[in-house]
Amino acid sequence: MAIELGETELSTIASNDREAVMKEPNNPLLEALQRYWGYGSFRPLQEEAMQCGLLGQDSVVILPTGGGKSLCFQAPAVCMPGLTIVVSPLISLMKDQVDTLRECGIAAAQLNSTLTMNEKKSLAEQIDRRELKLLYIAPERLAIEKTLSYLQTANVSMIAIDEAHCISAWGHDFRPEYRMLGRLKDFFPGVGIHAYTATASEKVRADIAVQLRLNRPTWIVGNFDRPNLTYRVLECNNRFGQVVELVNQHKGESGIVYCISRKEVEKVASGLGGLGLRALPYHAGLTDIERKSNQEAFLQDRCDIIVATVAFGMGIDKPDVRYVVHAASPKSLEHYQQESGRAGRDGLEAECTLIYSKGDFITWSKIIESTFAESGNEESREGQYRSLDSIRGYCSSVQCRHKELVEFFGQDYQGDNCEACDVCLGEVELVEDPLRIGQMILSCVMRLRERYGADYTAKVLIGASDERVKQQGHDQLSTYGLLREQSIAMVREWIDQLISQGFLNKSQDKYSILQVTDLGRQLLKGEQTPRLSKASGGTNERKREATPAASWEGVDRGLFDHLKGVRSTISAEKAIPAFAVFSDATLRGLAGLRPSNLDRMKEVQGVGMRKLEELGERFLGEIDSYCRTHGLSRDEALPVRESSRSDAPRRAKGPSASSVAAIPYFREGCSIEKVCSEMNRARSTVVGYLYDYCVSQGVTQVDTWVPSAEISLIEQAIDVVGDEKLAPIFDHLESQVPYDSIRIVAAAYANRRAKSEAK
Ligand code: ADP
Repeated sequence: MAIELGETELSTIASNDREAVMKEPNNPLLEALQRYWGYGSFRPLQEEAMQCGLLGQDSVVILPTGGGKSLCFQAPAVCMPGLTIVVSPLISLMKDQVDTLRECGIAAAQLNSTLTMNEKKSLAEQIDRRELKLLYIAPERLAIEKTLSYLQTANVSMIAIDEAHCISAWGHDFRPEYRMLGRLKDFFPGVGIHAYTATASEKVRADIAVQLRLNRPTWIVGNFDRPNLTYRVLECNNRFGQVVELVNQHKGESGIVYCISRKEVEKVASGLGGLGLRALPYHAGLTDIERKSNQEAFLQDRCDIIVATVAFGMGIDKPDVRYVVHAASPKSLEHYQQESGRAGRDGLEAECTLIYSKGDFITWSKIIESTFAESGNEESREGQYRSLDSIRGYCSSVQCRHKELVEFFGQDYQGDNCEACDVCLGEVELVEDPLRIGQMILSCVMRLRERYGADYTAKVLIGASDERVKQQGHDQLSTYGLLREQSIAMVREWIDQLISQGFLNKSQDKYSILQVTDLGRQLLKGEQTPRLSKASGGTNERKREATPAASWEGVDRGLFDHLKGVRSTISAEKAIPAFAVFSDATLRGLAGLRPSNLDRMKEVQGVGMRKLEELGERFLGEIDSYCRTHGLSRDEALPVRESSRSDAPRRAKGPSASSVAAIPYFREGCSIEKVCSEMNRARSTVVGYLYDYCVSQGVTQVDTWVPSAEISLIEQAIDVVGDEKLAPIFDHLESQVPYDSIRIVAAAYANRRAKSEAK
């Protein structure tokens, strides 16, 4: 069975709909989500992935970083009677996840080399008493026969393999000890095995299923776009100054600055420290103790900025990283996606900025050459150059960055304007006559009979007095010197832009010869117009605005900062990561709602039962005294919980293919339940389809799906509070009518109004 990309996009429930979802009867997963984590809805495809866990059906779950993979196995684990084994590659990852689970009141533990004999003994006792719900374990432990035999007696209900790409030699993080996991099927026949990864490569995905010997696994592949991230590319003019400017835009927030070399990391970290910023370095040259201590300081919010080489990454689950700056180009687009993807895992808005210079590519070329000198592996060298080209193309591109990233990983991007990258935000200045320039470049490629590379073509175009050009007689071409008033760097960049937009093709051999594509021929005829930037990859600083953050709406920032301080104290007291106490999203919720009692407090996303009991009074006390001192009102409306952008572009996209497929069912008057069974979809997904159907088909009567009594209540409420937002209707009806019904009736109501206005 395959679940296609983004299929449940429309089932994402608006952030304020948590109570409505909870009204869905008998959904143990939702109940667990609410009770332990304080979350009111699933992220896209989470529910489907969790169902596989409950059903014991092997699965491969591919969701982007921040997609919420951990919950995909943690929620079913707490709903099932036995023990869930979680294979995790790094001790630091295990520890953070176990800490976070325990804070939520879930019995979780880790089994690895850090345990003392006594700890191991008490862990075994816990397992024997059937008290434990999740056991995190390193892959090498599962290679030990004795451990496996012992676990066979432990009533294992499910096995989750986190960071499952580590099993594939095709992946970038191959770990030979993961290979032993293929034996799990022999030791635990009949137990569902579930692999989770954010890796995008098809080859790796397929290899995971083969290596784990999965039995007809369900494939769950999410949408790789990260709408809450805003991407920007800046050409380097003063590297450190640019980094400082970006960091200063996020004072007091968590951020990562990536550099290519250790030396650069040290320089930037001490430079930022010298400016009074809380920055620490992280690279492979530090001792284990130093690295661990800096990482912990970051996790516990004692340090705001980690300046790092690529060595910093996989062990980091921190969900509230608000920005990632690349102080230099990464080595490939795949690396960029991974590294920048560490921002905004909590779904709130975050910024990813890449500062690059031509010199960065030279540095990477040198690194590739020195690796090649050691390995002599020609294939790998060519692959690395191709990867480098991908990021070079991204840097010089003037296309939507979201589109570029998503398409690079083989998915379609719908929508014309993401409103979340420098290109779509209009920050990149474009040339006024791109068609003319594009035609000049392409005709020069033609005149050179499609036999030369980009550097040579640029030389001819600017009319360089170059020996080789003269020898070949290319100074006699009509296109020689056509762009003589431009710099060679600019022309070179335009060529890259024409490549990334598909007007030119570069041969995949070491000669990288330019060829005009079919699209390029259309450009030559004036049937297509390219987009070319004015300054080299430059950003129009005048146009650049701070990203408006809807998730701050109604949030008192002073109180938020105060609560962050409280969180930091608790995190240090308990020696656990700050996010295990409360996430940024939860603190914003608290600083917006400013609850006066525990009942209101539990409405905030991320406040589960255990945390309410343990931390509720302490936080209420802090909120109380802060609000008194600052004269703030209490018990306000709940602020927006996740980045509003994570919804907006999806809505702009219109119905998905599945939603369209559901239309005939609704036309025939099928009930929601019937469509659920016909299409094998969750109810929340089908309600999303129904909503789409109503909007796209202008439906005005919805009594087939909503009881008449509810319709009239909702319509009366709309008459009083309007239908601009659903929350006021829900509140007006004193939470007695489900959000799903309100959503559908409001859509029909709006259609009727539009029709009567049109008359
Ligand atoms: P991934 O492993 O896919 O990168 P995580 O499992 O670390 O993502 O989740 C990222 C963050 O999102 C975590 O803070 C997690 O608690 C939060 N999260 C996951 N699922 C939900 C949900 N349904 N609602 C709200 N927050 C969620």
